[in-house]
Amino acid sequence: DELTTIAVSATASYREKFAAEELASYLNKITGKELSVITVDSSMVPDGTIAIGELSVSSGMISREELGPIGEDGFVINIADNKGAICGWRDLGTVYGVYELLKQVGVKFYAEDCEIIPSKSKLKIPELHLAIKPHYDLRTIFKYDVYFKGITPSMKLGYTPNDDMGYHGDLGAPGERNWVHSASFMMPYRIFGKEHPEYFALNKSGERVKPGEGPPGHLCLSNMEMRETGAERLLHLIEKQENRTSFVVTQGDGRSNSWCQCSNCKALDAIPGDHMTDRLMDYVNYNARVVNEKYPGKKILTLAYTEATSRPPERVMPDPNVMVMYCPYPPQTPCQSHGLDCPENSQGFAELQGWIEKCPENMYIYDYPRGYRVWYEPFGSFYAMVDKMNFYASNGIKGIVQCVVPTSFTDLFVFVQGVLFWEPDADVEKLIDEFMDAYYGEAAPHMREYFNFMHNEINTRNVHQGCESPNPDLVTAEYADNALVMFDKAQNAVADDPAALYRVELEKFCLLFSDVNQRNTINDELTISMPEHSKRLAETVRIAREMEVIRVGNMPNMMNFKNWLRSVSLLTLQSEPWYYDPGVDAFLNNPENIFIY
Ligand SMILES: [Zn+2]
Ligand SMILES: [Zn+2]
Repeated sequence: DELTTIAVSATASYREKFAAEELASYLNKITGKELSVITVDSSMVPDGTIAIGELSVSSGMISREELGPIGEDGFVINIADNKGAICGWRDLGTVYGVYELLKQVGVKFYAEDCEIIPSKSKLKIPELHLAIKPHYDLRTIFKYDVYFKGITPSMKLGYTPNDDMGYHGDLGAPGERNWVHSASFMMPYRIFGKEHPEYFALNKSGERVKPGEGPPGHLCLSNMEMRETGAERLLHLIEKQENRTSFVVTQGDGRSNSWCQCSNCKALDAIPGDHMTDRLMDYVNYNARVVNEKYPGKKILTLAYTEATSRPPERVMPDPNVMVMYCPYPPQTPCQSHGLDCPENSQGFAELQGWIEKCPENMYIYDYPRGYRVWYEPFGSFYAMVDKMNFYASNGIKGIVQCVVPTSFTDLFVFVQGVLFWEPDADVEKLIDEFMDAYYGEAAPHMREYFNFMHNEINTRNVHQGCESPNPDLVTAEYADNALVMFDKAQNAVADDPAALYRVELEKFCLLFSDVNQRNTINDELTISMPEHSKRLAETVRIAREMEVIRVGNMPNMMNFKNWLRSVSLLTLQSEPWYYDPGVDAFLNNPENIFIY
């Protein structure tokens, strides 16, 4: 018999309703038939129906006992006797459960715009009993949408959605996505600065800091009145977002010299004014206890970040509801191309191991898998991620936040990372092949060749790429020559497959950008002929126009593609955005003319 109806309870949450609509929509794409989503009374789920969410429990199709072991993000699927039920430990798990059922009937989720949906006239779901939970409690990407035009961590790929993270907008900072350094939203200077300058950090000259002086949001963490006021504001935030799980309590951005120099703060330190982890833990635990009284189950996230707090605490251990995001960040962890066992990363690795030893139940990771200075250099952090995930999985790490994702092989990185969140032992090489076949079509073998070439170069030439610096070492003139041959083959293979061609060219753009950036007529480092260089420059511009690239990094000449172009060529464009400038077509039609003017 066929399943024809999807049912939710009358009190279904927005995520349960979303899960039901998703299931109906995909099953419609598979079978061509409209499935209705109905609301049913808790005791009677008709034959031919899949119950979604709490209805599964109230109708007796899934028991509370079954849900216990798969908390907090797992789910149970029971399909038997011409009826089915999908329910998570909480409603988020129900959404993952729906995607799992779709995978069971042959749907493949690879990326936002790359899914495989089979076609079947009749949908017969075999008897099925699954209970699945992710290996990690938190699985997300910070600021994904800022670097990749509105793309957010996908539940289809197993990620924690943004709407499970505390959102500071409700504290009067609308649009604020920088939840990782929360101090300036918890205690904004514009609200408290005038009446309570003592809430803010004392600098080395003995003055309370004001906005614009050093990194924002550095607080005097020992000030009890500040703590009370801040905790009240945190409770207020949670009250407005009760269905969210994780709330961040951290100091502002910046290194140890930004931290408060007052004697009360220093008295909380293990090494006064140098190693502030105990001070931070004291402050974070204060908030965590206030929250736990009213909202047990909420998690308070904080950072082990820079030399200020990257060492584990000496006296004050995190409370059970505090999760510490250790940051494998330079200078302690300067290499993002290799795992933590890269000799360059020995200090960071030792610190993290210290944390794991002292606080084995409280550890998350906040990682840096890309370049933040030059956005479009090929950045080979893929196998570093895989190596680290192996270490994290076997050392009790409970959550992973990626600070954005690399621009190289972005969707592959996101896909594989998503699988490893749920199945740490998954066969990564097999996943890469499967992904590339779906994503690059006929170009897959050539893209695999380039992917292997890139990571092989990183390993054999000992290239250690860093997230906070330009990384010119990888793309040498010879690297560019070799890689361009592979890209030619890849482009030819998918000449009549626009989606695959676009994806190939995204990758080629990184190569061309890095090549032109390092060797051009302005810096006089050209190693190839003028016609060949102008051809590469033209293709860089052509692909950039297709991608509508605006910002290319966080360096003076990289705030805008137009400025970057001026810094590497004689091409000056006037229009905003640059790709509407008639000079673009003039150049693309006759690239060599640029050197004749
Ligand atoms: Zn202080
Ligand atoms: Zn390295």
